[in-house]
Amino acid sequence: MKFLVSNDDGIHAEGILQLAASLTELGEVTVVAPDSERSAAGHAITMHHPLRVREIKLPGLDAQAFAVNGTPADCVKLGIDELLAERPDFVFTGINRGANLSTDVLYSGTVSAAIEGCIMGVRSAAFSLLGGKEMDYSFAGKIAAEVAKLMSEKDFTAQTLVNVNIPNVPKEQIKGMKVTRLGIRRYEKNYEKRNDPRGNAYYWLTGRLIHESLDEDIDMEAIRNNYISITPLHYDLTSYEMLESFRQWGFENEFYGL
Ligand code: MN
Repeated sequence: MKFLVSNDDGIHAEGILQLAASLTELGEVTVVAPDSERSAAGHAITMHHPLRVREIKLPGLDAQAFAVNGTPADCVKLGIDELLAERPDFVFTGINRGANLSTDVLYSGTVSAAIEGCIMGVRSAAFSLLGGKEMDYSFAGKIAAEVAKLMSEKDFTAQTLVNVNIPNVPKEQIKGMKVTRLGIRRYEKNYEKRNDPRGNAYYWLTGRLIHESLDEDIDMEAIRNNYISITPLHYDLTSYEMLESFRQWGFENEFYGL
């Protein structure tokens, strides 16, 4: 098995080292990741300046590693197109420092890097460890290796991305794994307004998560109950239930006087 490993916390983050280390036990790993943190970069790609690549040595890791001055999606695109000698069997991203749950997946560089893998036809998975004072990525790394084994055994198309979130509690408190769906993650008081020394207002993104009661099969609820959440995702955002309505409403045969 050949893995391309990326993230959005940057190539020097502890989570990517643990993910890469776990996967070297299953096959060949190449790390291609941003040279600095690019969390919340979403699916951005770099168009207006050149991408530079530096090969580096990650501590204690027996794998090639490339630091790129781009976004997570850039890293996967460039990695598959240019840097890896052969096409990878899997793109695995993370282990992210903090959750990537529900609608937050749309902001996540870690999830977007995995989506980029899917778009390029490579089976992909994203891994996130819930935030906390202590971050121990070793158990999450083992979960990633198990997911890789399952993905290689099952009939599994590259059109589906696997999004895995792992609770940040001692292993004994984890109740198991739940297959979940995305919910809507809402925040309140999103911005703190302050004044700069010249008297002009500026805004700093903060935000408190609104806790709602949720269906049991929503990813956030599984995490709240100390389950590992595993969600199949798809990058096709088409609203299939509306296709027929749009046709019936006459969008296809009206020109609205243009
Ligand atoms: Mn991150």
